[in-house]
Amino acid sequence: MDKKLSPATICVQGGWQPKNGEPRILPIFQSTTFKYDTTEQMARLFDLEESGYFYTRLQNPTNDAVASKIAALEGGVGAMLTSSGQAANFYAVFNICEAGDHFVSSSAIYGGTFNLFGVTLKKLGIECTFVDPDASEEELSKAFRPNTKLLFGETIANPGMNVLDIEKFARVAHAHGVPLVVDNTFATPVNCRPLEWGADIVTHSTTKYMDGHATSVGGVLVDGGKFDWDAHADKFPGLTTPDASYHGLTYTDRFGNAAYLTKATAQLMRDLGSIQSPFNAFLVNLGLETLHLRMQRHCENAQKVAEYLQVHPKVAWVRYCGLEGDKYYELGEKYLKNGSCGVLSFGVKGTREDAARLMDNFKFIAIVTHVADVRTCVLHPASHTHRQLSDEQLVEAGVAPDLIRLSVGIEDVDDIIADLDQALASL
Ligand SMILES: *Cc1c(COP(=O)(O)O)cnc(C)c1O
Repeated sequence: MDKKLSPATICVQGGWQPKNGEPRILPIFQSTTFKYDTTEQMARLFDLEESGYFYTRLQNPTNDAVASKIAALEGGVGAMLTSSGQAANFYAVFNICEAGDHFVSSSAIYGGTFNLFGVTLKKLGIECTFVDPDASEEELSKAFRPNTKLLFGETIANPGMNVLDIEKFARVAHAHGVPLVVDNTFATPVNCRPLEWGADIVTHSTTKYMDGHATSVGGVLVDGGKFDWDAHADKFPGLTTPDASYHGLTYTDRFGNAAYLTKATAQLMRDLGSIQSPFNAFLVNLGLETLHLRMQRHCENAQKVAEYLQVHPKVAWVRYCGLEGDKYYELGEKYLKNGSCGVLSFGVKGTREDAARLMDNFKFIAIVTHVADVRTCVLHPASHTHRQLSDEQLVEAGVAPDLIRLSVGIEDVDDIIADLDQALASL
């Protein structure tokens, strides 16, 4: 697909390109396996000498079409769908880190990612240092070590709503010879393309806005194709030296600027197997077809809701980068010119119990763990998603104990505000 097309057109037209007489709509290739006429043909696929399909754990035409749409949206050289956003972030790190390695991450990230990086990866011998994303370049640099392999951040942090200074992070990463990985879940490529600001790898939980209807858990890993692995060959032996599990093939030699993605697919997905089902990929594709329209409405509604909450006498604070005076307003103006997302956070005046009581008083605004789908919903991270974290860790992750995360949907905004209004009135 032509990269010069605008995101709206790629959302609708990208990915599946039917040939003469083929289905207009992306088919669901619900098949584990693919048939060949000769042993020789199949053997060439196993040697990565030819591209083609043989087993859905490695590649599937439905998944590939959706991955290529997302790669085009982000401006990357390729992408791989995963079974969840968690799997995507795990693969992003594990593709270049092994036992004894270290990486640096913004502390303002999704709770599940925080656990993965701080606890689970540690058990595999991979250590993570968390940094304050708003720290100066000098401060950030202090976290780097000789064995540091990457820097990680979220475009818009879930649920802290911090906006990442992507260019600053990219400068720091590149000064240390490592790639910047950005989780772009909340902004989506419709509102921000981190690769254009210097990021090297992009991840998503497609579970959120990309699917957008709360039907399918999924993730994606996008390779920007610009990081020069060979220039830092000693740091990335997995990419720049022969892979014994592939007859001594060297990814950078054979696959050039798609080395990172090819290794993730051919080696990690082969061995770890967190694939997205073709059926879920089909649903994600349906979501992607309207992503540009939905994001616009999510942002318009969230802006109005944020302005309503900001002046409400029972509301203590609101965090939304679209509000003038918000700590991240300027970074939002720079990186998120078309809008940020539909998620905002706020606190009510009073106790933690008041916050909980407010949540119980909504009519159609529902309490769910999910965010970023068409239906407006709320969550109290301190009692839900982040309950494993200590108070100290909560603050470090940018989550105040009174923080309510509101995911503004695409209903009529007057109805959303009316529901908020009656619930706040009951406090
Ligand atoms: C939800 C989320 C994840 C995890 O994705 P799952 O699809 O739930 O595994 C990762 N990063 C961010 C920013 C998220 O919002």
